[in-house]
Amino acid sequence: MFTTEIETFIKDRNYPRFEPKAIFFDMDGVLFDSMKHHASSWVKAMLKVGLPFTEHEAFMNEGRTGASTIDEVFIKIYGRNATDEEKQQIYHLKSDFFESCGKPERMPFAMELLTKVKSQHLEIFVVTGSGQPTLIDSLDGNFPGMFHKEKMVTAFDVKHGKPHPEPYLMALKKSGLQPWEVLVIENAPLGVESAASAGLFTIAVNTGPLDAAVLASSGADIVLDDMENLYEKWDLFSKKVSSYNQQ
Ligand code: MG
Repeated sequence: MFTTEIETFIKDRNYPRFEPKAIFFDMDGVLFDSMKHHASSWVKAMLKVGLPFTEHEAFMNEGRTGASTIDEVFIKIYGRNATDEEKQQIYHLKSDFFESCGKPERMPFAMELLTKVKSQHLEIFVVTGSGQPTLIDSLDGNFPGMFHKEKMVTAFDVKHGKPHPEPYLMALKKSGLQPWEVLVIENAPLGVESAASAGLFTIAVNTGPLDAAVLASSGADIVLDDMENLYEKWDLFSKKVSSYNQQ
């Protein structure tokens, strides 16, 4: 397990090796168990303005910025982009519904994995499409001492959201590392697509209701069930990475 995936990644990308020095974590659905709240809030907000939208669609569009999600629905239903006013109205409704869900909880085993990664002296980054102004406080409150402002890429930093590679390329630039020195942990098809287009090794954790095949076809190098599964396999994965490099 894992050796084939590592070998394929290096060969397909024509990289000299795969030697992670930093982990780029997506946030919603990876660090926070927040996607069910985002999905139900999107459905309620769209319904309020008469637009059909399902939770499945919300999960399929996860990773996009709010504006881009709204545009997707408008193009499908009306054949045009939403106006700025329409975007503001719907995003405001969505944010209000999301707020009423209460504070998102930590994803089970996210803290355990972060602790392990930190003990291995790997750098920790967050790459998210979220634009909450209180993001760093929320991360700090839930995962004390794990995250730093200068090691984050949020909706405020990028022109193009996921699935465009820009968020992950920006994190790569901030890290000063090579693409073969980074590992991405994602849960969403568009997030995986973004990371894979940036040329990064991507482990998908299927923490939502989607079929695991969707994550594999989006470009994930490895697909696991959830963060607990990743935490359990982490030592084996690390061992396989270092033994591959010693070949
Ligand atoms: Mg996510």
